[in-house]
Amino acid sequence: MNLLTVLLSLLPVLSGPDARLQVAFEDTAGQLRYTVAYDGKTLVAPSLLGLQTNEVDYTRLECVSVDTQEGRDTYVLDRIKASHIDHAALCAVLHCQNPDGRKLDIEWHLTANDAAFRYVIPREGETGSVRVLAEASAFRFPEGTTGFLTPQSDAMIGWKRSKPSYEEHYTLDAPLDRRSQYGHGYTFPCLFRVGGDGWVLVSETGVDSRYCASHLSDYDAAEGYTIAFPMPEENNGNGTVEPAFSLPGATPWRTITVGADLAPIVETTIAFDVVTPRYETTRSYRYGKSSWSWIVWQDASMNQADQVAYIDLAAAMGWPYILIDAGWDQEFGHAGMEELVRYARSKGVDVFLWYSSSGWWNDIVQSPVNVMCDPLARKPEMRWMESIGVKGVKVDFFGGDKQETMRLYEAILSDADDHGLMCIFHGATLPRGWERMYPNYVGSEAVLASENMVFGQNHCDLEAMHAALHPFLRNTVGCMEFGGVFLNKRLNRANGAPGPGGRVFGTQRRTTDAAELAVAVLYQNPIQNFALTPNNLTDAPAVAIDFMKQVPTTWDETRLIDGYPGRYIVLARRQGATWYVAAINAGDEPVKLDVKAVEARLGGTARVLSTGKDGLQAAPAPKKPLSIAQNDGAVLVINL
Ligand code: CA
Repeated sequence: MNLLTVLLSLLPVLSGPDARLQVAFEDTAGQLRYTVAYDGKTLVAPSLLGLQTNEVDYTRLECVSVDTQEGRDTYVLDRIKASHIDHAALCAVLHCQNPDGRKLDIEWHLTANDAAFRYVIPREGETGSVRVLAEASAFRFPEGTTGFLTPQSDAMIGWKRSKPSYEEHYTLDAPLDRRSQYGHGYTFPCLFRVGGDGWVLVSETGVDSRYCASHLSDYDAAEGYTIAFPMPEENNGNGTVEPAFSLPGATPWRTITVGADLAPIVETTIAFDVVTPRYETTRSYRYGKSSWSWIVWQDASMNQADQVAYIDLAAAMGWPYILIDAGWDQEFGHAGMEELVRYARSKGVDVFLWYSSSGWWNDIVQSPVNVMCDPLARKPEMRWMESIGVKGVKVDFFGGDKQETMRLYEAILSDADDHGLMCIFHGATLPRGWERMYPNYVGSEAVLASENMVFGQNHCDLEAMHAALHPFLRNTVGCMEFGGVFLNKRLNRANGAPGPGGRVFGTQRRTTDAAELAVAVLYQNPIQNFALTPNNLTDAPAVAIDFMKQVPTTWDETRLIDGYPGRYIVLARRQGATWYVAAINAGDEPVKLDVKAVEARLGGTARVLSTGKDGLQAAPAPKKPLSIAQNDGAVLVINL
């Protein structure tokens, strides 16, 4: 470790641990800008730094001195893409001041492929708190850069006026100069391809009760994208869009992940490297697979017989959990739920219960409502849950990205941990480092998830595209509770059996069984609520059921083998001495998967689940490459 302070005659250049990543600074007419280069190629063009508070204007900054310190990011985390993180890092603090001499530190954290920064505001004099009016932090890209982006939606639209909830479509490889769909910019993470020079993923992490969640603005020809705060209309217009914290204090981290290829984008852990636990837990949490009636059998399944059928499905699969979704309170009441939980536990199955977050910020009627938003109702409810053995909650339909909603997430998590309850969030914002910050946090939706495939055929048509996209984007910065793996051909209870009048109804799955099994590996979340139905025990291939019994939900290591966002992916995840290599193809050209080459790269011997003449088959590694057609996939299970 070396600690050095440099008095600047020139502005600093920060180098990542292997010196391929470089962050340089320049002073242009009193404004401070940074540039990110990798292998000598500029990936982020000179971009503004600074922010404006209600007390001080920090948008004109001079860098006075810099401290740098070499170190390592070393920690264990059991709920993300990798379990043991240990890599070199460079920490730097740029000591800056504005023209009035008011001080601001900009902290930088560099790994081999990541550059993250945040602003640290000191306490100077009597003023002990501050409101941030705007951040100038910008992200400009070289000419010809294209974006893989999803828009921030209008507020108070969609189902029961519950947006924004990070459930929008993506545009892929598109020029940057167009207006976003709603004119509010783009939600994190945002992926950019800088021509043939490399890739850049921009996101944020470390957001807690002391700030709002931010997103990127629409593109401005002069300054690029800037950090945008929530919209005033969110939370039904209530609550401020200007985050506030006490001094000294810091903003969340803005993260920039770069690579010559896509592997660093898929494998990055920067969202977790720079955050620390917000509280310690005395509990131990167990992750795993879960059955879930609502996804295919929908609201009509909130009854005794169907919930028992799904408890029995979980028991038959050896899965530790069932998620009992909306409306349980009206069907069973608390006394009835105690009985149902007792039955589930007698079968070795533990229970997650659904709640609305609301509240006064939307029109949700799915119940229970008005419990999770109110500490006076929430605390006794959680005591009750613990007393009957419930292990987790799924809380849905949050109000937006304002700081007060971040406070609600943190309050729910903190209270839940007091009662040994894990938390899943739906209708929710992107998690921003929460896997490391909150020991009982186990996943968020923040994606157009599996429910949309039940609601509309176009989402079934896009299923392979999404599976080839999210590992590069949404799921690389945080757990993603997608609720996938359908083995029904039709996504409803009848599963293709004719209904009244002989009509076959329901949306139709486009993917092969092999592709569905790949989804179980491609999407990472420590608790996986899978979309299997009780009939799959008899009507799905035995090979598929066996695989779904054994596939893990936690991983020691993740490696990108090959792929292009939205077209195809071959992704390897390891648990213990077993690699699971999942492939899916969304493009119309077949993808060649050389299993022998993958074996040579990872070691071990593969068992291959793929599509044969008669459907899903299991076989040893073929000598010739597998050919994976559109909407098809494969899984290699490689024992080391
Ligand atoms: Ca949803």
